Amino acid sequence: MTRVLFWLALVFLVLFAIRSKIRGMQQRAREQQRPNPFTPPGRPQQLPDAELMLCCAHCGVYYPASENVQAKGHDYCSHAHATL
Ligand SMILES: [Zn+2]
Repeated sequence: MTRVLFWLALVFLVLFAIRSKIRGMQQRAREQQRPNPFTPPGRPQQLPDAELMLCCAHCGVYYPASENVQAKGHDYCSHAHATL
């Protein structure tokens, strides 16, 4: 009889441990979904401006469009690749 009680107690302890672990994970997930507390209220969170990326016709590397070098109707990442 004591063996049965021991196993029952062990099963309850394991179930309790699993349940508290799941609750901790849910709590962490909820905290990650909260908005940034440092953002002023009433103002939507602003994402950093994304810049258009272009693919170099010579090496295939993607680079910001602000660094674009155009030559012969193609886009290049640098003057060196535009002249090659
Ligand atoms: Zn290149």
